[in-house]
Amino acid sequence: MISLKSKREIEIMRQAGEILKLVFKQVEPAVQAGVTTNDLDAIAEETIRKAKGEPAFKGYRGFPKTACISVNEEVVHGIPGPRKLKAGDVVSFDIGAKVNGYYADSARTWVVGKVSDKIARLAAAARGSLLEGLSAYKPGCRIGDLSEKIQQYIEGQGFQVVRDYVGHGIGRAIHEEPAVPNYGKAGQGLKIQPGLVLAIEPMVTEGHYGVETLEDGWTVVTRDRKWASHYEDTIAFTEDGYMNLTGESI
Ligand code: MG
Ligand code: MG
Repeated sequence: MISLKSKREIEIMRQAGEILKLVFKQVEPAVQAGVTTNDLDAIAEETIRKAKGEPAFKGYRGFPKTACISVNEEVVHGIPGPRKLKAGDVVSFDIGAKVNGYYADSARTWVVGKVSDKIARLAAAARGSLLEGLSAYKPGCRIGDLSEKIQQYIEGQGFQVVRDYVGHGIGRAIHEEPAVPNYGKAGQGLKIQPGLVLAIEPMVTEGHYGVETLEDGWTVVTRDRKWASHYEDTIAFTEDGYMNLTGESI
C-alpha cells in the first residue's frame, strides 16, 4: 500500500532529515586515515541522540549499529567495527533517524585522502546520478522517468547500477512501498503524486553490478570485488515540486 503524507507528517520527517544532515556534518571531517568505522558510528549515534532522535537501523532486524558503513568493494549494509580506514579507501555511510514515529534515511560516499581519478569519479557518480534523476521530475511523471535518468547517468560514466537493492517509500516505516529502482524505462512505474516520500538511493559499481552477501549476513559486496559507491536522500514530493529532506535542493 502506498501511503501519501500530509504536510504535518512531512514536517516531522524534515526534522528527522535535519538530524541526518547534522550527522554528516559531524562525521565527514572525521573520515581520515586511522579512524575506525566504530569511531564514525559512535559520532553518528551521539549526534542523533543529542538531537533527540532515535537511530533507525540499530536493532532493525538485528542490525547491531547506528550506521551502515561500507568500504571499497562493500556496497551497502557494512557493519561498523575495528577496521581502520586508510588513504585511498572509499567509504559509504548510510544512516537513518526516527523522530516522533517518522523516519528519514540518507547515505553519502566519501573518499579517504588521495584516490585515483577513476575512484574519484566512482565516488561522485552516485550523487551525480541522484541529482540527474531528480532533474527529470515534473508533476505527474512516473518513478521510471527518474530511474531511467539515474541509470543513463551512471552508465554514461562507464559504471554499472546495482539491481538487487533499490530505493523505497518511507514514512512511519523505514521501508515502505513503492520500490524505487535505479534502472528502468521512462513512463513505467507509479505516478509520483504530492505527498509521496521516497528514499532514492543509487548504488554504483566500478565493474559488474552483481552483488552477494558476506557470511555476517549483512555486508553486501560486489561479486567481482570491484569497488562501489552509494548516495541516498529522502525526497518529499509536493504540489509545487519536491523537497530534499536530507540534502541539497537543486
Ligand atoms: Mg539508507
Ligand atoms: Mg534506504
